Amino acid sequence: MRLVVPRLMNLFESNEHHDTSRIKVDHKVKDQIPDGLFLACPYCGAQMYKKQLGPYRVCANCNYGFRLQARERLELLTDEFEEFDADVTMEDPDFPGYADKLSRAKKQTGMGESVLTGKAKIEGQEADLGIMDSYFMMGSLGSKTGEKITRLFEHATANRLPVILFTASGGARMQEGINSLMQMAKISGAIATHQEAGLLYLVVLTDPTTGGVTASFAMDGDITLAEPHALIGFAGARVIESTIHEKLPKDFQRAETLLEHGFVDKVVPRQNLTTLLGKILAMHKVGED
Ligand SMILES: [Zn+2]
Repeated sequence: MRLVVPRLMNLFESNEHHDTSRIKVDHKVKDQIPDGLFLACPYCGAQMYKKQLGPYRVCANCNYGFRLQARERLELLTDEFEEFDADVTMEDPDFPGYADKLSRAKKQTGMGESVLTGKAKIEGQEADLGIMDSYFMMGSLGSKTGEKITRLFEHATANRLPVILFTASGGARMQEGINSLMQMAKISGAIATHQEAGLLYLVVLTDPTTGGVTASFAMDGDITLAEPHALIGFAGARVIESTIHEKLPKDFQRAETLLEHGFVDKVVPRQNLTTLLGKILAMHKVGED
């Protein structure tokens, strides 16, 4: 079998204005690279040393942001952070295999649920912050995830704070059935109260944001930002293709396509996010005084 090797990146090129259209993506490449030494970008297929990702863990060729755990992202964002509801967790999982998956997720992420919430200072500006973690059961929306996000909005409304929420999710948590789906309405209700109070809700869509999360609070923001090439959608592309019997265009459900169609306000490279969030928060604060 012939291994298709994508174009090697030039180390001295900047992160912007790359033509990735000619790079052939071979998903098998990923499996043939030794652990910890080389990585292949899941979006453009370029291979690189792990250390070349740098502190922001972005592809040097196309600026795709590799998936981060919530606490890793927190490190990149905040000056100060006071965590809320760290002990909120599912106490009585009664679906077969659910308890094992939960305990593995807790061990891997050091979190009790798929979202980290708290009060943060970003570039000196105060905000309530939520970060979903795709390493915790694919960032799925369980009833305790919903509870934590709802409480975050309630806290923000009571304290007249903006909310910044980083989404990363495979959708509703199927082990919890209807209880999971009900979180969509519960969170949207808390967001509505927060918005009626004239407060800012800013969403940052990260790779991947799909299913019930996209169908509710990920699309409720006053300002919606996204990371480059992040996968954002409701149903998977293959499901849609087999339903409509048509081939979908390249980059269907990617951040740039959503920007083009008005669902996203700006695609922001991860390296620029903290500064931009700080600016938006500062502008918002002026309006409130
Ligand atoms: Zn890439």
